[in-house]
Amino acid sequence: MSLSKYKEKRHFTDTPEPEGKQTKSGTKLIFTIQRHHASHLHYDFRLELNGVLKSWAVPKGPSLNPKDKRLAMMVEDHPKDYATFEGDIPAGNYGAGHVDVWDYGTYEPINEEGEVIGTTEFAKNLKAGSIKFRMKGKKLKGDFALVHMKKDEKTWLLIKHRDKYATDEDYNSEDYAKKSSLAYTAERNAKKKVVKKKQ
Ligand code: MN
Repeated sequence: MSLSKYKEKRHFTDTPEPEGKQTKSGTKLIFTIQRHHASHLHYDFRLELNGVLKSWAVPKGPSLNPKDKRLAMMVEDHPKDYATFEGDIPAGNYGAGHVDVWDYGTYEPINEEGEVIGTTEFAKNLKAGSIKFRMKGKKLKGDFALVHMKKDEKTWLLIKHRDKYATDEDYNSEDYAKKSSLAYTAERNAKKKVVKKKQ
C-alpha cells in the first residue's frame, strides 16, 4: 500500500487536493464516499486500511438494496487526508471536476459470519478479492461486501447484505446527494401525487 500512484497522477501546485502522507490508523477505521462530478459522474468509495484509503470508483453510487450489484472499479490508494476533501479540481488536472463528501463515518471489518476481525485478516481478504464490512455512516449502514470479479484486476462489485438497514425499494444515490432523506421522501411523495393526478 503506497501513495506513489496517487502522487504521480497529480500536480499539487495545480490542484487543491491534499498531498497527504501515509499515516497510522486510529482505533476506529474511517470510510468516506465522495460524489465526484468529473467527465463522468461517479462516487468514490474509500475504506481506510493501514494508513491509506483503499479506493473504488462506483459509477452508479452505492445502494442499500441487496439486489443491486454496483460496479466498483479499484483505483489508486488515496491519503487519509483525502477523506474530507471537497472542492473543485481545476480543468486540465487528473479527475478535474467537483468533489463533495456524500457520506462519512466509521466501519468495522467483518468475516463471513459477521464477526468483527482485525486489519491483518481484512487485508488478507482484500488481497484474496472478497471483503465484508459493517458501515456506520449517515446514509450507509449495516453490512456490505466488495467482491473482485475475475475478468480483470480492477473490477469489483459492491453489494449490500440483507439486514435491518437494507431496502427493497429502488435506491438512487443521486436522490440523497444534496437533500436529507426526509426532504427527499417528502419531495418524492409530492411527485407521486402529481403523477396520479395526471393519470
Ligand atoms: Mn473520482
